[in-house]
Amino acid sequence: MVSAEVGIDYVLWTEDEVSTRVGEVAAELAADLRALPEPAVIVGVATGAFLFLADLVRRVDVRLVVDLVRVESYGAGTESSGKPRITADLKVDVAGKHVVVVEDIVDTGNTLSYLIAHLEKKGASSISVCTFLDKPARRKVNVHLVGDGKFYRGFECPDYFVVGYGLDYAELYRNLPYVGVLKPEMYKKDSSN
Ligand code: 5GP
Ligand code: MG
Ligand code: MG
Repeated sequence: MVSAEVGIDYVLWTEDEVSTRVGEVAAELAADLRALPEPAVIVGVATGAFLFLADLVRRVDVRLVVDLVRVESYGAGTESSGKPRITADLKVDVAGKHVVVVEDIVDTGNTLSYLIAHLEKKGASSISVCTFLDKPARRKVNVHLVGDGKFYRGFECPDYFVVGYGLDYAELYRNLPYVGVLKPEMYKKDSSN
């Protein structure tokens, strides 16, 4: 079995479950974006959101703009440093625009709060968040949306460090088409295998 080979202890959401849920979130988002007078700017947070972003926007049949931002707050481990910084900024001007931030996971909320403040400074007229996973049990900072912004989420995630569907451990496992929990021994290995 593939999972065993890559050191996954168990699967939380299968590829089919992910696909079904992404379709539902896309439908919800599409209905809201269709009601806007002009195209929204979808801001994917690299690298973790890349698969969710790609699957989501393909299923949102509405005129929209896609851009990427890179925000880093993690070292190689499983704990956030708590001090996010923008390491690659947007290309698109979001002043006066409706922005939807697409994230892989909201954990403490530090990264997202920092990014929202950044986009607000750039003059976005509304800021929504669409996150694949939400881990409310770990929240330290309240995520405040801007204007008519809404919060969309794929799944509520239990308090485990999860990988797959974009989410990494030490930059590995992003390509898994499902979400799983790593075997504890995987954390002790270096990234050479
Ligand atoms: P926060 O700033 O909300 O604590 O963390 C947000 C970022 O931390 C996410 O975008 C993600 O990169 C990383 N992160 C938080 N929880 C997990 C997890 O369970 N698994 C993985 N792979 N990354 C996580
Ligand atoms: Mg992220
Ligand atoms: Mg990471």
